[in-house]
Amino acid sequence: MPITALLRSLVNNRIPGQLVVQITDRCNARCPQCGMRVTESFSRSTLATDQIKKLIDAAARRGFQAISFTGGEPLLDLPRLVELIRYAGDAGLRYTRTGTNGFMFKNPQKSDFYDRVSRMVEMLADTPLRNFWISLDSSVDDIHEEMRGFPEVVAGIAKALPIFHQAGIYPAVNLGINRNVGGVSTRYFRRVEAATSDAYLDTFYHRYRRAFERFYQKVIDLGFTMANTCYPMSIDIPENSQGLSAVYAATTADDIVRFTPDEKRMLFKALITTIKRFRSKIRIFSPLSSLEALVRQYSSDMLGGETFGCRGGVDFFFVNAADGHVYPCGYRGNEDFGRLEALDLQQLRPSAESEACRQCDWECFRDPSEMFGPLLEIFSNPLSTMRRIVMKPKQFGTWAVDLRYYRACNFFDGRRPPNYKKLSQFASTTKEGVYPDKDRKNYALDHRFANQKLFVS
Ligand code: SF4
Ligand code: SF4
Repeated sequence: MPITALLRSLVNNRIPGQLVVQITDRCNARCPQCGMRVTESFSRSTLATDQIKKLIDAAARRGFQAISFTGGEPLLDLPRLVELIRYAGDAGLRYTRTGTNGFMFKNPQKSDFYDRVSRMVEMLADTPLRNFWISLDSSVDDIHEEMRGFPEVVAGIAKALPIFHQAGIYPAVNLGINRNVGGVSTRYFRRVEAATSDAYLDTFYHRYRRAFERFYQKVIDLGFTMANTCYPMSIDIPENSQGLSAVYAATTADDIVRFTPDEKRMLFKALITTIKRFRSKIRIFSPLSSLEALVRQYSSDMLGGETFGCRGGVDFFFVNAADGHVYPCGYRGNEDFGRLEALDLQQLRPSAESEACRQCDWECFRDPSEMFGPLLEIFSNPLSTMRRIVMKPKQFGTWAVDLRYYRACNFFDGRRPPNYKKLSQFASTTKEGVYPDKDRKNYALDHRFANQKLFVS
């Protein structure tokens, strides 16, 4: 985005708009953490191509910069997806993203694998697509494959990545944090009555830290050069749901992605330590300033003040496949904004910072909100920024380093290879001890248990 246009929107207390369009809720995977899995029976919907094109036109007219085509599984209809990405690029949307659950990469030993994947990659490479994600839920292959229902898909991903790279696409691995991420070490470590005890939380922290380390090392070994992390999304049972209602069904009340606030605090802390260790080796989207803000949020009953409010419903929006309507995000399903073509964004003024929404941890909206927060504040309340710099220099410092890191990563341009020389400036200085490379006993257990039917499906 040209710097003058960015400054203009910041002066108006706005940031570059982002639209997440659920083009379909059809899916062929079996993920236990998601209400759209193939085994769920509900009436499925797919937005018509013309309708999506009208949405893209309306988004471009309103100055949106980023669009994500999500599902369900976006690659179920590849020619149509390619057409939409081109259309969005021609309309002036600079940042287009889409991704896959990886079904195309299963059974890599089949003789048609190379041709099949090459054709798909060529089609995507011939579009202005900027970022492409591939999901991976666990550091243990068998567990991920059973969760998704795709045999040998992890080997297939490793085989597919060089094909992508050769065509100039650098996919990001997408980890949706869940209780299977570390194999048996996290899978069987569930909430107990004493879940708030220090001993429980300390063990929890170390198990997840080890799990994240294994995960990042694994994806580097697979050939990924970029990584994103989806923070656990669950809408709690109605009495605890804080009024949220999922219009985006990529959520569940199932225990696999349900964590207590104390557990979340430990999860985010474990992620911070691990990301510090790995972000010179692989481009990691998740900003440390956002994770630290979430730690603060889950450290007390405070819902604001120490975090920047989410821009969902102000600058960022979700479009639902079932009705084609716009919602503030995937989780405020009670606030139907109707068609984008009829929506006046000027009417949607941001709430006061202290009242802005912070009801969930959806990283698609929370991470950029936290990254843009200080910039917005500089224009709207420079005194508050000065106070923040003086009173909370460490917080401000983390954000400034994140910005430098984003630059070193070319703002996560998924069409450019990593520059490891620039990334090396971010080599870890963390003092926390390194875990042994692999806990072989746990790996053996992981494989044994992975063959058992343990999942909700
Ligand atoms: S998480 Fe994605 S791949 Fe898995 S069932 Fe849901 S929509 Fe499908
Ligand atoms: S924090 Fe953002 S994504 Fe979450 S419910 Fe609020 S507006 Fe939606």
